[in-house]
Amino acid sequence: MYEVPRHLFVDQALATRAYDDVSLPIGHGQTISQPLTVARMSEQLFAQRQPGKVLEIGTGCGYQTAVLLKMGAEVYSIERLGAILDKARQNLRAAKLVHARLVHGDGHFGLPEAAPFDGIIMTAAARNIPEALVEQLAEGGRLIMPIGENDQHLWLIERTSQGLQKTRLDPVKFVPLLPGRS
Ligand code: SAH
Repeated sequence: MYEVPRHLFVDQALATRAYDDVSLPIGHGQTISQPLTVARMSEQLFAQRQPGKVLEIGTGCGYQTAVLLKMGAEVYSIERLGAILDKARQNLRAAKLVHARLVHGDGHFGLPEAAPFDGIIMTAAARNIPEALVEQLAEGGRLIMPIGENDQHLWLIERTSQGLQKTRLDPVKFVPLLPGRS
């Protein structure tokens, strides 16, 4: 994370706060996640394994995407808002990280054409675990996502040979996962 210039991912007016451990607005009612949360989710996603192929849902400003790329993952990232995705593309280019596949779409359905994934990370809060995402997880793969409305927690869902193993982690605060794209 030291290698990712977070100020490139927020508005110039907020650049002085870019290295504080806080979430910040990125326009269209969305936020860049708090660095501690990005660290926690990235760590849980890989769990000391080779990064492999990762699907991110909720590209936002592209900061989490940048961290995943720096960690050596092959990254696919889906965002439902076209304007936000364009901004993420510019931000990632400014940070000289151009290898992510950015997709304009609804992350509820995952990305079947690129599945299976070794890891799936969702950065918007859902009410439950979208079935399509579980199906697109490789065996041994890990899905990390916030679940809940006012009272949210991170959950880790592991696909093992015996089935799904679900673990509740830290309390968090994310914007909601919304249907459709625009
Ligand atoms: N990872 C981002 C955090 C973005 S906030 C970062 O580091 O900045 C969550 C993002 O999820 C928002 O941009 C929002 O538009 C997007 N989102 C919400 N519902 C979605 C859905 N169904 N599919 C894809 N993106 C979605």
